[in-house]
Amino acid sequence: MTRHFNFCSGPAMLPTAVLERAQQEMLDYQGKGLSVMEMSHRSSDFMAIAERAEADLRELLAVPDNYSVLFMQGGATMQFAGVPLNLLGNGGTGNYLDTGIWSQKAIREAEHLDSAHVVASASDNRYTAAPAPADLSLSDDAAYLHYCENETIGGLQMDYVPDTGVPLVCDMSSSILSKPIDITRYGVIYAGAQKNIGPAGIVIVIVRNDLLERARRETPTLLKWKAFADNGSMLNTPATYAWYLSGLVFDWLKGQGGVEAMARINARKAAKLYEAIDASGFYGNPIAPANRSQMNIPFMLADEALNPVFLNEAEEAGLLNLKGHRSVGGMRASIYNAMPEAGVDRLIEFMRDFEQRHG
Ligand SMILES: *Cc1c(COP(=O)(O)O)cnc(C)c1O
Repeated sequence: MTRHFNFCSGPAMLPTAVLERAQQEMLDYQGKGLSVMEMSHRSSDFMAIAERAEADLRELLAVPDNYSVLFMQGGATMQFAGVPLNLLGNGGTGNYLDTGIWSQKAIREAEHLDSAHVVASASDNRYTAAPAPADLSLSDDAAYLHYCENETIGGLQMDYVPDTGVPLVCDMSSSILSKPIDITRYGVIYAGAQKNIGPAGIVIVIVRNDLLERARRETPTLLKWKAFADNGSMLNTPATYAWYLSGLVFDWLKGQGGVEAMARINARKAAKLYEAIDASGFYGNPIAPANRSQMNIPFMLADEALNPVFLNEAEEAGLLNLKGHRSVGGMRASIYNAMPEAGVDRLIEFMRDFEQRHG
């Protein structure tokens, strides 16, 4: 058996140790004689799994007691609608920072409710740098400010947390758990699981409790944060196996030294890959240095005709899923927590060798 290095943006690589533990527990979970997949979500065994996962996530991110942690479904995309529905019940306008494709998808859902004001857009620089803090111009009736911490497709990561006096709502799908964050700066944080948490099927929402009372009347029950908070995220059958696997990842993260340790490793991984890109005339990355993503690193070949050759040879070398998003082209290496530093080293080695042969 060989496990290759998988640079997919999502669903992404999971730690081998986590998959091995899931494999050991697959048929008979801790002597109970059944798989987690086959358990009632209301059984005491599953409740213990669910509570442990939440407690570990709270510990990893130092989530204060006045925040609820929700395990929902529908992905981060469902929360693009969930945000305006849950926060605009008292009127006001959803304010949005536009730093790329995921920002825009969030904006579009608020537009369906005729309530989206764009405070600033990186379109002015073709999405290569985040707008400066001084350039964010909020509407007078702003109910919240939404932004995407890390644009998974463009490879643009924010280098500051906006401080505007209105509740801050953040899509952290591709950067949550990659570094410490100060939760108290935020009203709402949400993240789809399949990048840096666990398998697909779950979206985690962390919401300050005073913001649970602002939902619009037409909000469907399964999108209502308060209903999830009041019912331990067990309003209906949750994605039990994805919840369990996410819990195994949290446990693994704690064993690695938590998000502080991950941040050091992630910074080192990203720095050496950007260094290799910058040192060559063969590869390029267009993002301003301050906004270069630590998680998703797009790079272009000077000669685009070589793209398919690069991808084929990379795959043969055990480096999978390096094709860039169709809207950007070129390559993209997603290097979340589960990507070992050895995987990045192997990619850099491959890139140097490829350049020597084709440059
Ligand atoms: C992947 C991603 C999404 C969409 O996630 P789904 O779970 O597929 O809905 C939203 N925002 C960001 C930043 C992402 O990376």
